[in-house]
Amino acid sequence: MTEVFNAKIPSICTDCNAVTYPPQGFCHSCLSENTEPIPLPLSGKVMAVSQIHHSFEVDIQPHLPLSLTSVALTSDTVVFGLTKENELQTGDKVSLDVQSWPFGNLLTARST
Ligand SMILES: [Zn+2]
Repeated sequence: MTEVFNAKIPSICTDCNAVTYPPQGFCHSCLSENTEPIPLPLSGKVMAVSQIHHSFEVDIQPHLPLSLTSVALTSDTVVFGLTKENELQTGDKVSLDVQSWPFGNLLTARST
């Protein structure tokens, strides 16, 4: 049975504007509980790409290879996004939005 993944959307603090990722239910900077998900889509620059060629999850196997990208939204906030685009490279500009995959709803990167 495949684990169902849920997107972890960065949260922004309504008191100090700090971004927390993954969301914790409180602000990592001022510890306020006044946080809310950042409006999507997000945009940023690819920091690194890792290709996934194997999975034990049967629902994931037909979609391989996939790439896991780390994307810098700002100088101090990096998030992870899955993508079918296997040509992405460090420095590419991408947008991130939640996409439904057979194995869950995940932040997905697309080149812009
Ligand atoms: Zn805060």
